[in-house]
Amino acid sequence: MRGSSVGVDVGGTFVKIGLAAKDGTLLRSVSMPTEPGRPPEEFVRRVAGAVKDWRFDSVGLGLAGGVDAATGTLLFAPNLRRWVGFSFKRAFERALKVRAVADNDANAAVWGGYAVGLKKRARHVVGVTLGTGVGGGLILDGRLHRGADGAAGEVGHQTLDPKGPLCGCGKRGCLEAYAGTAGLLRIARRRMRRVPSPLTPKALADAARAGVPGARAVWDEAGTWLGVGLSNLVLTFNPDAVLLLGGVARSGRLILDPVRRVFAAQPFREPFARLRLSAPADRDWGCVGAALLSRESR
Ligand SMILES: [Zn+2]
Repeated sequence: MRGSSVGVDVGGTFVKIGLAAKDGTLLRSVSMPTEPGRPPEEFVRRVAGAVKDWRFDSVGLGLAGGVDAATGTLLFAPNLRRWVGFSFKRAFERALKVRAVADNDANAAVWGGYAVGLKKRARHVVGVTLGTGVGGGLILDGRLHRGADGAAGEVGHQTLDPKGPLCGCGKRGCLEAYAGTAGLLRIARRRMRRVPSPLTPKALADAARAGVPGARAVWDEAGTWLGVGLSNLVLTFNPDAVLLLGGVARSGRLILDPVRRVFAAQPFREPFARLRLSAPADRDWGCVGAALLSRESR
């Protein structure tokens, strides 16, 4: 379809490829294994093969790592190490003969949530993706803020307690160690006498809604830490809105209510008074956002 774009959300294990209309509606999608041990040129060929019958006029990639958005080059990526230094922008422009952009995957997802739901009402947005990892994106004055090294918005690794639990990054007490999937499940094992089996964020949300003892306290604790982390960001950036995306955000009020309580208790009222807390329905925001980013002028 004319005016459509392809979005490619590249995680360490799986790639999701979607065709998105101008308004962000996902028209079709496929997924495939990433195979990050194989050469990047092969990845480009596989994606190009998957979309060869689609009609689109730009392509955007969201990569799990730091990206130089100007050149579309992957700068650092713990799970895509072999692809560091590769220019995805150039390779995709050559392979698909359309405009291509590449950015960090959390930036792409936050851009998607912003462009579809908030653009008309907000110019400054702090976005956080809550999943296995806790990532983020900053939209300042209607544009993604990428920082000097493409590393801006790593909100999940802000330290909330230097003596806190160990985070996957090697530090202690990061926001991710409380509000990422592993952190949430760790809180559950500590707080609940019997945890759901299998133990997942969804099972924990179901348990809390069913009144299983201790389950609600797990969400209260994770949500309170999230509220502390988000209020640091609100005090720093004074956004119009905080946008929460990803699997853990699907728990809705279970995690939003404690965040709202932390916000309501802040002594500096100004940045919190009018603040919108937005957790839109789950979609493939990584795909949608990457596709919509490819339509933005630089
Ligand atoms: Zn960390």
